[in-house]
Amino acid sequence: MENETSSKNFIEQIIDEDIREGHTKKVVTRFPPEPNGYLHIGHAKSILLNYGLSREYNGQFNLRFDDTNPTKEKDEFVDSIQKDVEWLGAKWHGEVLFASDYFDKMYEAALALIKKGKAYVCDLSAEEIREYRGTLTEPGKESPYRNRSVEENLELFENMKAGKYQDGEKVLRAKIDMASPNINMRDPVIYRVAHMYHHRQKDKWCIYPMYDFAHPIEDALEGVTHSICTLEFEDHRPLYNWVVNELEFENPPKQIEFAKLYLNNVVTGKRYIKKLVEDGIVDGWDDPRLVSIAALRRRGFTPESIKNFVELVGVTKSQGVVEYPMLEFCIREDLKPKACRMMAVLDPVKLIIDNYDENQVEYVDVPNNQENPEMGSRKVPFTKELYIEREDFMEEPPKKYFRLFPGNEVRLMNAYFVTCTSFVKDENGKVTEIHATYDPATRGGNCTERKVKGTIHWVSASMGKKAEVRLYENIVDEEKGVYNEVDGSINVNPNSRTIIPECIVEPALMEAKKEEKFQFVRNGYFCVDLKDSEDGKPVFNRIVSLKSSFKLPNA
Ligand code: ATP
Ligand code: MG
Repeated sequence: MENETSSKNFIEQIIDEDIREGHTKKVVTRFPPEPNGYLHIGHAKSILLNYGLSREYNGQFNLRFDDTNPTKEKDEFVDSIQKDVEWLGAKWHGEVLFASDYFDKMYEAALALIKKGKAYVCDLSAEEIREYRGTLTEPGKESPYRNRSVEENLELFENMKAGKYQDGEKVLRAKIDMASPNINMRDPVIYRVAHMYHHRQKDKWCIYPMYDFAHPIEDALEGVTHSICTLEFEDHRPLYNWVVNELEFENPPKQIEFAKLYLNNVVTGKRYIKKLVEDGIVDGWDDPRLVSIAALRRRGFTPESIKNFVELVGVTKSQGVVEYPMLEFCIREDLKPKACRMMAVLDPVKLIIDNYDENQVEYVDVPNNQENPEMGSRKVPFTKELYIEREDFMEEPPKKYFRLFPGNEVRLMNAYFVTCTSFVKDENGKVTEIHATYDPATRGGNCTERKVKGTIHWVSASMGKKAEVRLYENIVDEEKGVYNEVDGSINVNPNSRTIIPECIVEPALMEAKKEEKFQFVRNGYFCVDLKDSEDGKPVFNRIVSLKSSFKLPNA
């Protein structure tokens, strides 16, 4: 039996203690994306973790754009990120926040440090700063500008702000400890000169704060109590604490690190996704082969499936790698009781029932979801000529093949038993039609006298509709792994997308709405593409096939 503490993750345990000891009254968390790309599945983990904690503790969740680095930031990404966070169901408190709105306060914070003798303007070049910094085994060397007077520093920093220097000519550095075993503490740069246009602040600033200085201030100004970030920031925590302590914030936030989500053989890093987009290997940030949130949505993943996935993965401090089939497992589990099970033939071949009246149309009753009777049933037209899957017929079947072959009887799902009588081939040996006879006494696919081992799906040839279906495989060549050993590029799978322009689907699917999800019998779960579908002309993306290689550990 699990007790209360052991079922809580390590972050919840820290928060519990902070509450118990009176450090925290109201839990405030945030998600701080940099608007330089689309969000991906890893970000979803961070969003749902931070939002989840704010819900669990009846606290507050902020959405704050960390837009302190104007080079790569774009409004396009601000919009997409908001949309994705919303879609995931994470509700942020009040207005969306922007770190750049705090630039004045950050500037004042820098002045405060200078006045305390805790920051100085340094003229060393970037390369010199690097040389002076030392190594993991050797201490750094103090900058010759380290002991400038407060007055001189104030004047020079003012000049930096006034645009009197070129980019890189001067920086403001925190005065901490050049001999610290933690290199981040060796007088880190906290402000730089950069004559750049900012997407919100326009040309107001030509100095910009560095991340390690800006981030703790952003958190502190918002009253964030627990600033949750990923493991690579662990070594930056002493600097984070130094900043909030030197600036004398009353209830300083606490930084907590957790392990990033990595999926085996999947491209997650923003940088790499961007490269696939820019190189035209995929059709954009929302290409269904990617794991950006927009792409997962387009592929057909639901917010619930992503939530369940993130919960299954859990929150830890040790880095692990998760298998993609676990994500697939979560969407199957989510759709199983919800999605209508429809008939669609992806690789059609004609089946002609010779003893069926060619003018007749029968509407057979088909349950919408066998696991969920509440979803009712629908009428599907049955006619003399049907389409079935090419793989459901074999001229010379191997043992244990129970579908159609000459002389064999199978069940046409929810319709009739049919027995294959003959077939026709073209000059290339390709089967073009299959003939059969049906037994009128087996209507509904039921028969008490005899059993058949095979059941196959079908669509009326005259009443079925044509639709485009897209099948996907991993964009990564799994045999080679994600990254090319020689140049670090991505090993791309040339077969990652198969477009089937003319599948035959039952007529009801023509009314499918964008983003609606279905099970296609035997072929998997599909989603109506958000972008390329038109009214009455749906395009179906395969989300996932029906079979799983993933099993829950305790299942
Ligand atoms: P990436 O390099 O993977 O594109 P990033 O860290 O540059 O991501 P940010 O916009 O800076 O992207 O991140 C916003 C938040 O999302 C940060 O708090 C970051 O720690 C978190 N985050 C980013 N990637 C992951 C991941 N793979 N797993 C969990 N959290 C992540
Ligand atoms: Mg980043």
